[in-house]
Amino acid sequence: MKYKAIQNFINGRFVNAGTDKTMDVISPIDGNLLSTVPMSSNADLDKAVKAAQAAFPAWSKTPIKERVQVFFKYKTLLEKHLKELAELCSEENGKTYGESVAEIEKCVELTEFATSLPQLITGEILEVSRGVECRTEHAPLGVVASIVPFNFPSMVPNWTIPNAIALGNCMIMKPSEKVPLSCGKLAELLKEAGLPDGVFNIVHGDVEIVEAICDHPNIEAVSFVGSTKVAKIVYKRATSNYKRCLALGGAKNHLMVLPDAIPAMTAQNVAASMSGCAGQRCMAASAMIGVGNVDAIIDKICEEARKIIPGENLGAVINKESKDRIERYISEAEKDGAKILVDGRNTKVKGKENGTYVGPTVIDFVKPEMSVAREEIFGPVISIMRTKTVDEALAIENANPYGNAASVFTQNGGMARYIIDHASAGMIGVNVGVPVPREPFSFGGWNESKFGVGDITGKSSIEFWTKLKKSTTKWNAEAGINWMS
Ligand code: NAD
Repeated sequence: MKYKAIQNFINGRFVNAGTDKTMDVISPIDGNLLSTVPMSSNADLDKAVKAAQAAFPAWSKTPIKERVQVFFKYKTLLEKHLKELAELCSEENGKTYGESVAEIEKCVELTEFATSLPQLITGEILEVSRGVECRTEHAPLGVVASIVPFNFPSMVPNWTIPNAIALGNCMIMKPSEKVPLSCGKLAELLKEAGLPDGVFNIVHGDVEIVEAICDHPNIEAVSFVGSTKVAKIVYKRATSNYKRCLALGGAKNHLMVLPDAIPAMTAQNVAASMSGCAGQRCMAASAMIGVGNVDAIIDKICEEARKIIPGENLGAVINKESKDRIERYISEAEKDGAKILVDGRNTKVKGKENGTYVGPTVIDFVKPEMSVAREEIFGPVISIMRTKTVDEALAIENANPYGNAASVFTQNGGMARYIIDHASAGMIGVNVGVPVPREPFSFGGWNESKFGVGDITGKSSIEFWTKLKKSTTKWNAEAGINWMS
């Protein structure tokens, strides 16, 4: 085992969970055992919540300009430890080192945004009547929880950590049991940056601990990022316990390619979007709709896909279960009459035979009713459908229950605008394969890709992590005057 057994992080210290139940943490790159992660109990969660509750009065009363000083330091520490964080991310998630570096750089950007929060949360004040002022201010909620998935071991936790904490909340983080190492390093850096004990805590585990978070009477808000199936469970359970909840789910992102698209740029973008992070991005292009004759562009996409080499510029998928699922989808499409133009099944990387790799896969002549066209595959696979018109393409996109992202490749501005207006997704790209809004713009999908109000990052997250206090004051001393006078 490369690393020592993982511990929870409670009240500024790494501590053992009160249970012997653990799971192995296996590197998808080579199948090696990295560590073990505890399946914490409700009592462990309770300890973390108590620590967070104890830290809340002092932290929430610390002026925000002081609170963000921690995040200026944290940003510098993320940069200083970039290599170590990126290596850890690669090892536990399987993505390439370059992709892991990009992930940590994104954590830096998210933290930079949090340092700007004092500029963004100024309240409002107005003399609403003679001598009477109404004023609003953003108050923190208290103890909040963040439940995160496996595909971005550092970035998704940093969607919530800097903003929620800078806004005065104390946090319980529940990392994915598949990639629990990175969060521990983030905890160390937050402590080194000067975050008081108890403000950030980690409780490891799986289903049981997520349910306990949703039920805990002293947790005020739950943010969740993961599959739609679990997002629905968490949203329902947390809100039925009267908590505020924002639950981001899975995706099936459609990319529409029009005949006037620039071939080389389009092909590179499509190939990069479907295979980046081994297709395990909730923003990955998963279905492509060729409108009219785009055969030449499809040829180029295949050329680009063949340049993506597992173990070199393509990482591994998270585990054998995922590899099997992805390969099953490809085989089923083939059986149903689709044509596999580039086949990533049965991929082995020399020297890493126990790694879980799937090569880039391009499937053409897919029909909208096939499962590869409808369902989230979460692997480096693109399913190509053909339509005669943009409206037919939009009808396919609109019919899908998800709604995270959609993109169009064209040189026609009017057509691009039409697609922006009619696609049913929260994040739209024009000649951009992975249309992630950069800070300060917020991240969040529509439909079954997100449950709850607002987005998880950027300015929109302020409303989620705070509650508005409205005060009305009057200082004129005369008696007998109505406050509305
Ligand atoms: P997942 O839903 O399996 O797990 C997410 C979290 O929920 C983990 O911490 C896990 O321990 C916990 N969990 C798993 N099953 C549970 C259950 N039955 N009850 C309660 N908790 C449970 O997701 P994953 O496989 O880790 O991540 C991949 C998924 O996340 C994909 O669907 C992807 O699209 C999605 N995702 C979405 C976004 C977004 O912004 N919309 C971002 C990243 C990932």
